Amino acid sequence: MRCMFCGCEDSKVIDSRHTEDGKSIRRRRECTGCGRRFTTFETIETVPFLVIKRDGTRQSYDKSKVKNGIIRACEKRPVSMAQIDVIVNNIEKSLYNSLEQEISSQKIGDLVMNELKELDEVAYIRFAAVYRQFKDSATFFEEMSKIFNTGNQSGKDKDKN
Ligand SMILES: [Zn+2]
Repeated sequence: MRCMFCGCEDSKVIDSRHTEDGKSIRRRRECTGCGRRFTTFETIETVPFLVIKRDGTRQSYDKSKVKNGIIRACEKRPVSMAQIDVIVNNIEKSLYNSLEQEISSQKIGDLVMNELKELDEVAYIRFAAVYRQFKDSATFFEEMSKIFNTGNQSGKDKDKN
């Protein structure tokens, strides 16, 4: 992003947040040439970032991949398309609000899991199973019991209150 004061091509992002309507992102930048600060507005569709895959290769972020993964996990569950859209938007907000331009697929997976955990436990487990690529069924069941134990405990706490 070219500095509007000195024309220097290089600036660093010092703050990054969504506008109220969620459609664009406001970035506070500092010119590395003259040190002056300025604000840019970028529409979300044009903010590029790369996803770092497990094997270290990069590819551009693909919303439909994230969404399809969630749809698959929510199959035959009482989850509406609107709820899935909300999840995808929440995830994208977190991604865009971080100042990173490269984000690991693991981080995206974690964000999806956090959202699904709130929404539907079965979808959460399904997604976790695929995403974590459990080495064997023992590991999978270990994870599942962890999930359910946590669930039971929070249920007990609720009863107490
Ligand atoms: Zn400058």
